[in-house]
Amino acid sequence: MKIMPNRMDRGFYKYQSELETKALDVLRSGWYVLGNEVKSFEEEFAAYTGAKYCVGLASGLDALWIAIRLLNIGVGDEVIVQGNTYIATVMGVTMNGATPVFCEPDEHFGMDTSKIESLINPKTKAILVTHLYGMASKMDEIVSICKKHNLKLVEDCAQSHGACFNGKMTGTFGDVGCFSFYPSKNLGAFGDAGAIVCNDEALANEFRIFRNYGSEKRYYNKVVGANSRLDELQAGLLRVRLKYLGDLTEERIRIAERYTKEINNSKIVLPVLAPGATGVWHQFVIRCEERDRLIEYLNEKEIGTIIHYPIPPHLAEAYKNLGYHPGDFPVTEHYADTVLSIPMYNGMTDEEQSYVIEAINNFR
Ligand SMILES: *Cc1c(COP(=O)(O)O)cnc(C)c1O
Repeated sequence: MKIMPNRMDRGFYKYQSELETKALDVLRSGWYVLGNEVKSFEEEFAAYTGAKYCVGLASGLDALWIAIRLLNIGVGDEVIVQGNTYIATVMGVTMNGATPVFCEPDEHFGMDTSKIESLINPKTKAILVTHLYGMASKMDEIVSICKKHNLKLVEDCAQSHGACFNGKMTGTFGDVGCFSFYPSKNLGAFGDAGAIVCNDEALANEFRIFRNYGSEKRYYNKVVGANSRLDELQAGLLRVRLKYLGDLTEERIRIAERYTKEINNSKIVLPVLAPGATGVWHQFVIRCEERDRLIEYLNEKEIGTIIHYPIPPHLAEAYKNLGYHPGDFPVTEHYADTVLSIPMYNGMTDEEQSYVIEAINNFR
């Protein structure tokens, strides 16, 4: 049985007719960028997260860098990010000229909260936390550290649509929650798309102005902004998918529960949520000291896997200017050497799940 790490086609065909009808409606409407679909999606997504405002943007990276920009963080400022995050998180900081300060992750893949305070100094302006793999971070501790040190809090929710900490949805704990709707995300568009959520009306307005060349009224530009508009087609298709996001998340949780219950191999470490956290399992990430041999073994059985991520941002060629070396962040680097994402997608059949479980259990 051939099993791919992800199957976006299944996510489409399940709702094919509704998605195709919506796409045709938008095409025939004659209005393609920032219109009623975007406005409705923003209202519906804000309501979904429990935030007051949502502003649609062109991508998750835009959500991150524009958030940092509008919180007035730039050259000379430091932002604490976790070492094992996706590199886009870090780019959201460095695109503004600010400096990323890496914090080691804990055993739940989130920021190790016991190590954050030693990284804070007068230049520290914000914590940018990533709910990696869809596993909510320890937001109670992170929020209280931010309050104590008067830091801004930005959440990278590109992988965590719907994940909660103590019943509150990720993206609503701090100043801004940043979302990506890249096709492979839990709430995926059919192209690039992103959004921010926040509770501050003035800040939400600044995002609206910034995304459209800094203009509120056409051709009256208040600030030097960007072109980061969400288009009607993506917004319309996202509205269709948002209706089913609860069901889609439950399906992922059921697969994760099966994996957790049935994968049983002393060579494999399973992911564990922090107390109070829920997971929406954007990825199901196991760890294995013989990871590369495991990949080959699974390949032979035609089970595809992905490493999220093989090179941590501090060692990326793109960031050699930061001057880090192997060994600087041992926990982060150990994760990069041992993590493996096994197949996890909506529409994964029971047989496919059983095949993956059995193969992993038979790895010697
Ligand atoms: C996907 C992702 C992003 C970037 O989102 P894009 O829409 O691809 O720009 C940022 N952070 C994390 C953690 C991601 O997974």
